[in-house]
Amino acid sequence: MDALHGFEVIRPATVEEALAARQAHPESRMIGGGTDILVNIRRGIETPPVLIDTNDLADLKSIDVRESGLVIGASVRLYEVAEHPEVSRLYPAVARAAGSIAGPTQRNMGTVGGNICLDTRCIYYNQSEWWREANDHCLKTELGEMCHVAPKSKGVCFATYSGDLAPAMLLFGGEIDLLGPDGARTVSMRDFFIGYSRQDGSTGDGIDYMAVRPGEFVLRIRAAAPGNLVSGYDKVRIRRSIEYPVAGCAAAVAREGDALTDLRIAITGTNPRPVFLEGAADLAGGALDDATVQGIDDLCKDQLMSMKTTFTPGHYRRRVATKMAIRLVRELFEGAAV
Ligand SMILES: Cc1cc2nc3c(=O)[nH]c(=O)nc-3n(C[C@H](O)[C@H](O)[C@H](O)COP(=O)(O)OP(=O)(O)OC[C@H]3O[C@@H](n4cnc5c(N)ncnc54)[C@H](O)[C@@H]3O)c2cc1C
Ligand code: SF4
Repeated sequence: MDALHGFEVIRPATVEEALAARQAHPESRMIGGGTDILVNIRRGIETPPVLIDTNDLADLKSIDVRESGLVIGASVRLYEVAEHPEVSRLYPAVARAAGSIAGPTQRNMGTVGGNICLDTRCIYYNQSEWWREANDHCLKTELGEMCHVAPKSKGVCFATYSGDLAPAMLLFGGEIDLLGPDGARTVSMRDFFIGYSRQDGSTGDGIDYMAVRPGEFVLRIRAAAPGNLVSGYDKVRIRRSIEYPVAGCAAAVAREGDALTDLRIAITGTNPRPVFLEGAADLAGGALDDATVQGIDDLCKDQLMSMKTTFTPGHYRRRVATKMAIRLVRELFEGAAV
């Protein structure tokens, strides 16, 4: 078993103290529940000298459901999101995504901030130090010189973003409040996650997957009011009781009579970022028919670029995500009938 290296833990009581601690310790990392970062530290993947604990930040512990939308503090625990009655009623995709993360132990400890900023994953990276050394390391820890998944990738890492909350929030125009040395700012999640996806020219990858500036950390996440959107979340995983997604799908539909009037789909577990399927809304406007289903299939083929970064082959994850998206959209559409 790997030894845990030594580090200092700072427990600020206010966001101002947290910011000061971040500035005083540029190499520090934030820690919420520690259910991801401590595993990485134990494996020697990261060695931060200082961890700044977000658990005493009272300002970041609330869930507010307002007329204008939903606001969730970074220190809120995942089980609180999953069990919140108003989140479950108005944003079922968000509540179900939170309730499907890992197992009960991780949901009791894990925080919203930690889930949003979850590190990308790869079968060659989430391993012990001796395993990675024996396999010649890889680009993501800077000790290696090549990507074992795509040896001709020319410096690009395809490690997969697997957080469940982000796709659900993307359905509702998700945003992130950040605080850093230059003050506070709010960023759209679509701009925040920059890991490469086939349909755009983004320069990020599985190493640089968040548009976060030095010293910044997450204060809150926001979602717009759902209006007439009916949403849901589905996920396939190898062990259903506790596991990262093979693929996860968030979807929202609006229905008027027999017509699908809005369609939104976001997928996790396939790319170095959560993928908001561009073009899904263009499939709405008429019946939910074979052409709509073919349209979803085409969008998934075009925008999901899963590689062999987990125990399942890349093409299998893309197929799973596609089938899940079509099934979920159908279920939501039927459920939205009045
Ligand atoms: C067995 C197992 C199964 C899992 N299954 C899933 C799963 O199905 N789905 C899933 O999404 N996750 C899964 N996880 C990962 C993890 O448990 C969750 O993502 C959890 O939400 C992480 O939250 P945390 O507070 O524990 O994060 P931490 O481990 O505390 O932090 C994670 C990352 O976020 C950063 N961070 C934390 N808070 C902030 C902040 N306020 N601002 C900026 N950065 C911050 C940390 O520096 C670190 O890089 C699993 C983990 C385990 C061990
Ligand atoms: S995709 Fe390549 S570079 Fe990225 S973690 Fe996996 S092996 Fe390493």
